[in-house]
Amino acid sequence: MTAKIIDGKAFAAKVRAQVATHVAKIKQSHGVTPGLAVVLVGEDPASQVYVRSKGKMTVEVGMNSYEHKLDADTPEADLLALIDQLNNDDNVHGILVQLPVPDHINEDLVINSINPAKDVDGFHISNVGLLGTGQKSMVPCTPLGCLMMLRDYHGSLSGLDAVIIGRSNIVGKPMAQLLLGDSCTVTIAHSRTRDLPDVVRRADIVVAAVGRPEMVPGDWIKPGATVIDVGINRLDAPEKGEGKTRLVGDVDFASVSQVAGAITPVPGGVGPMTIACLLANTLTACCRAGGFEEPEGLTA
Ligand code: NDP
Repeated sequence: MTAKIIDGKAFAAKVRAQVATHVAKIKQSHGVTPGLAVVLVGEDPASQVYVRSKGKMTVEVGMNSYEHKLDADTPEADLLALIDQLNNDDNVHGILVQLPVPDHINEDLVINSINPAKDVDGFHISNVGLLGTGQKSMVPCTPLGCLMMLRDYHGSLSGLDAVIIGRSNIVGKPMAQLLLGDSCTVTIAHSRTRDLPDVVRRADIVVAAVGRPEMVPGDWIKPGATVIDVGINRLDAPEKGEGKTRLVGDVDFASVSQVAGAITPVPGGVGPMTIACLLANTLTACCRAGGFEEPEGLTA
């Protein structure tokens, strides 16, 4: 069997188009433009690239983008003061602090200082609790993107066996809550899981969020299963030239795509959906703040 490729890039473009249409609608009917503030502390090159691309896409869907770049040695108190200012700014509907922050800053304190209603990353402890109890919340972008692709491919997820490899707060755990919310039977595997291949072989849905290049081989996969590869790993690629690299996922695409029913590629799978869901979350936050109708299908 050769798996169907779930094209995250095309799906993300559809989500962004839907966001843009709804943004235009609320601008016209309510005179409000959704705004996303992104805060970057320090000069990490990868973070700078992410922030630039988030800003560009925010503007492309018709929203306002506010970028705040702070020096790497910015005191924690100054960052908290900026967050307080953004919390109280009616033009800002979503706030994202690019992680990781430098070591002298307490990440949890920063996340929990963001107004939960503007927490478009969905990491605030209130949003974690709301999601865990099945209530309306801001949902972390990467698992939300995975859920959208799974719903689109399967229709109903009810009763399916899902195995998530990885138990991080930003991917594994919220992914489990979302799939449980859609009535999957959910297993979370991690580095201490006994006989991981056997656990994964039971799954109709496998979500790999580990950070280990090509760790999951085809013979761990139940024939016909759907495989969502969250991993982003950069490997040296001397065949492309000196100093060149290539991206691979946590799944061995070559062997898994021979067994699975459907699979997300890396790149072009979960990655583009993450930014699209950030824009969707900003729109959702704006709609909730203004009491406007929320767009369909853009949140859990
Ligand atoms: P973390 O490092 O926070 O978590 C990794 C998880 O994998 C841990 O729970 C760990 O278990 C588990 N793990 C590690 N080794 C093994 C193993 N041998 N067997 C089973 N489980 C193992 O990573 P993240 O969740 O932040 O990210 C995971 C991957 O997803 C990374 O490649 C990251 O780059 C990517 N990512 C991609 C995004 C996107 O937009 N596409 C967004 C976010 C992340 P334990 O808890 O026991 O240590």
